[in-house]
Order: sequence, then C-alpha cells, then structure tokens
Amino acid sequence: MTRKMPRSNSAELITLRVNIVKELRSKWKKERERNPYINEHFGGFVNELLHEILEKDEFLRHYAPFLSEEGCTRDTLYIKDYKENKITEIHFHDEKLHCSLCESSSCFHIQFAMATPRVAKLNIKNQTADEDIEEDGQQVRKVTNNKRRKSTISRK
Ligand SMILES: [Zn+2]
Repeated sequence: MTRKMPRSNSAELITLRVNIVKELRSKWKKERERNPYINEHFGGFVNELLHEILEKDEFLRHYAPFLSEEGCTRDTLYIKDYKENKITEIHFHDEKLHCSLCESSSCFHIQFAMATPRVAKLNIKNQTADEDIEEDGQQVRKVTNNKRRKSTISRK
C-alpha cells in the first residue's frame, strides 16, 4: 500500500500508536460516509482534527478566561475558578457530571468541563482508557518476561 506524503514543505513525520491510527481511520471512514466535505486524505483529516483541538483550547480561553483545568484523577476533574478563587471538583455519577462547588449538573463549570478532552477520563467504562491500560500492561509483561528469562540464565 502506497501512501501519499503531504505536499507541504513544512511537513514533519511523527509516530502515532497503532491503536490510535486504527481508531482515527475508523472515525475518518464513518465521518466520510455522513459528510462529503470531510477531507478525502487521511493525513489531512488528522491534521484538521488536531487543529480543531487547538482552536477549541483557544475558544475556551476566551469563553471562560477565569476558569482553568487543574488536573484530574480517575474520578475527579479539578477546575479552578479565579472569580470565586476556589477549586471545584467535577464527578461523574448516575450518568451525569456533577459540580461540587455549585452542587449542580448544569452550571458554567460543567459546560467548561464538557469542553475539555480530559472529561472522558471520568468515565471508567471508557474503552480507549481501558485499551491504553491493556497495552501498557502488555509492555510491562514483556519486560518482566525478559527479566525472568535473564534471571533464569544467570542462575544456571
Ligand atoms: Zn459549578
């Protein structure tokens, strides 16, 4: 299979994980079926997708300049509100996002949280996160297997 390289002189080659490329390809195919204006080149589609993420970050900075994402754990997204000078915790339960500061599921913090990519990490059932863990687990297993082999050899 031959792949057309991007024509742009400023193009740069980067390495993407095999799983990510698979997911991107299936997203590209599905979107092409629904929308004829989606880029006909896979590389172009990925570039546009990444550019949209950057534009969304920029939009969020204008839309909510007093809010910022302070990090997340497996079940909590922390958002700093500079107007209130407080950090709110966003949790996902009963199929809803919940803001601890406003005790609401429909406040401005929830709107902001919904626009961050990390909001997806709050859903433990999220498939992508599970695949990542599986992949990491496999790598760990490979390393430990190698170590075991080496230690067996050294014992002989
Ligand atoms: Zn809130």
